[in-house]
Amino acid sequence: MSDRYCVIGHPVAHSKSPAIHADFARATGQDVVYERCLAPLDGFSDTVAGLVAAGYKGANVTVPFKLEAEQLADELSPRARAAGAVNTLSFVNGRIVGENTDGAGLVGDIVRNAGFAIAGKRVLLLGAGGAARGAILPLLAEQPASLTIANRTLATAEALAARFAGPAAVSACRFDQLDGRFDLVVNATSASLSADMPPIPAHIFADGTLALDMMYGSQPSPFMAFAQGCGAATRDGLGMLVEQAAEAFAIWRGVRPATTALLARLRSSL
Ligand code: NDP
Repeated sequence: MSDRYCVIGHPVAHSKSPAIHADFARATGQDVVYERCLAPLDGFSDTVAGLVAAGYKGANVTVPFKLEAEQLADELSPRARAAGAVNTLSFVNGRIVGENTDGAGLVGDIVRNAGFAIAGKRVLLLGAGGAARGAILPLLAEQPASLTIANRTLATAEALAARFAGPAAVSACRFDQLDGRFDLVVNATSASLSADMPPIPAHIFADGTLALDMMYGSQPSPFMAFAQGCGAATRDGLGMLVEQAAEAFAIWRGVRPATTALLARLRSSL
């Protein structure tokens, strides 16, 4: 019988994960089935218990359960602990192991797909929510010259910067305190979801800046359009989505699928 996996969310009908993992399974010859699982808003842990009892090998976790998944896991990877959120669960010998592959997906898309080296660069992260938190450890692992976290609520950004204080220069500010230019600007605010953008100044971009919006769609977001107008190269979050899935697949199956052709197919279907 095929090994079974799923994505748990609420809502979950929109999720592209089943199509992505089906493609990975075909391409790597892995015998897996990957489904959608709609969990009741107050029933995440019961849903996971049901999957474990039914013999599932693992699950991805999406909105709004990533924080609950972190609480539920018996073991956490360093990336999941740093993120305070889990998007990948493995069910191993009766234990629930939690991982976070979102940040690795972001960095993989920037470094491998966009061919942009983060080492030695000035990096700006906009937002301090779950997606931003997950991105920090993988970004710092690339050894940027500095990492600035800018957020609407300054205290949240400051708390985050304090958690990651270490060899790299990590600082926090409000959008109106942003100073100087950045080589890489990642929009991890949820403003794009409402066709809005954070109030950032034009001077943070220069020719050669890469501006990435974690959200994806058929049209550039207001953030991407603004950055482009300021001379930046832009990218949306579709590559991040595919790369975080590839990372989860590699954790579960021990084989890393190729992503280039799939990313192109998904892009043309948006
Ligand atoms: P959260 O709700 O955890 O965090 C939202 C963040 O956005 C907070 O920092 C909040 O600031 C800020 N924010 C919200 N509205 C505005 C606004 N109008 N102007 C400025 N700042 C704003 O969301 P997530 O971190 O889970 O998600 C963030 C984005 O990342 C979403 O667009 C999501 O779709 C995307 N994402 C993409 C993934 C992918 O694979 N491509 C994976 C995961 C997320 P404050 O603290 O002041 O409230």
